[in-house]
Amino acid sequence: GGSDATQSDLLRARMRLSLQEHLWEFYRNNVNIPTDEQTTARRAALDICAELRVFLHAKLPDMPLREMYLSGSLYDELQVVTADHAQLMVPLVLEKNLWSFIPGEDTIMNVPGFWLVRRENLEYFPRNSSYWDRCMVGGYLSPKSVLEVFDKLVAGSINWPAIGSVLDYVIRPVVPSETLTLEVQYETDRKLYVDFLPLLVMEDGTSLIAKPHRLAAERHENLWRQSFRVPETARLRALDQEDGGCRCACLKVAKAMCKLNPALNRLNASQLTNAILLLSEKEGDWTLEALADRFLQLLRALVGHLEAGRLPCALNPKVNLFCELTEQEVDELGYTLYCALSDPEELLRT
Ligand code: GDP
Repeated sequence: GGSDATQSDLLRARMRLSLQEHLWEFYRNNVNIPTDEQTTARRAALDICAELRVFLHAKLPDMPLREMYLSGSLYDELQVVTADHAQLMVPLVLEKNLWSFIPGEDTIMNVPGFWLVRRENLEYFPRNSSYWDRCMVGGYLSPKSVLEVFDKLVAGSINWPAIGSVLDYVIRPVVPSETLTLEVQYETDRKLYVDFLPLLVMEDGTSLIAKPHRLAAERHENLWRQSFRVPETARLRALDQEDGGCRCACLKVAKAMCKLNPALNRLNASQLTNAILLLSEKEGDWTLEALADRFLQLLRALVGHLEAGRLPCALNPKVNLFCELTEQEVDELGYTLYCALSDPEELLRT
C-alpha cells in the first residue's frame, strides 16, 4: 500500500543522494585537472606551435595559410583526467572563385555533416592556378592529400630531435596515425599529443576539418567533416551561464567516464555535448543539486539514442552523430550504458 511506495521513494531518494556525492567526489578526484598541469601542457603546445610557424614561414612562404592556432578542450576548461592532448588548427586559404562547397546530403553519398570541396572554373583557371590544386583528386580537394602534404613536412623534413633538445622536450611524430599527431614528452612522466588539423572556413563561418570519415574509407575519401565544436561548446557554456547550471560539469563527468572505461571509449565529446544540449531543451533544472538526476537522465537518453541508432546534432538535426559507429559498436555501447543505469557508480570506479 501507501507505505510501500513511501519506503521505495525514500530508498530511491537516498540512492540519488549518494550518487550525487559520488559524482562530485569523482569530479574533484578524477575529472578535474590541477591548474599547474594544464599550464605546463599549454606551454608545451604553444612552444611547438611557435616552432612550426617559424618553420612553415621559412620553408614554404607561399603556402596560403592563415595563422595556425591551438584549440580543444585544454583551452576551454573541458579537458578531463589528464592534460594530454590539443589540436593545432591550420586554416587553409582557398580562392573564392576556384572552389565551391557541396553539402554531403546533396551528393550520392548522402551524408549530412560532411562536405565536398569542388574545383571550379578549370577551363579558365587551369590546374595549378590554385596552390591547393596539388591536393585535388578527381576534381575535388582531398583532405587526405592535404594531410599528406603536411605529413611530409612535419614528419619528414623537420628536425624534431634538434628542436626538442632546444625546448627540452622529446618530440616525435606518431606513426601510424589516422591524423597527423606529434607526441611531446614535456616531463619525464607527462606526454602531450598534438593533432595537426587542417581547416577550411566558409564565408558563413561553417568550419570543415580534414578528419576522415571512419567508415567506408575509400568511398568517403574526399569528404571534409563539418566541425560543430565551437558553436556547440559555446551554446553549452551560455546555457550554464544563464542559470548557473551544471551542464559543463555533467559533460566533464561523462567524458571522464568514457575515457576511463574502454567499453565507452567510442563516445566522444561532441556526442556527449549534443546529448546534453538536447536534454536541455526538455529539462529545465540544471542546478548543482540536480547533477545526479541529470546525469542519470543523460545515460538514459544515450541508451535511447543508441537504440534508435541516431543522435541528431543539436545545431543541425539532419546530422547523425552516430553515423560513424558500426552496428556492433552501437550495441556494445548501448549494452554498457543500459547496465550502468541500475548501478551508475560502477562506471565511476577507478
Ligand atoms: P576531448 O578530446 O574529448 O577533450 O574533446 P575536445 O572537445 O577537445 O574535441 C577534440 C576532438 O574534436 C578532436 O578529435 C578533434 O579532431 C575534434 N574536433 C572537431 N572540430 C574541432 C575543432 O573545431 N577544434 C578542435 N580543437 N577539435 C575539433
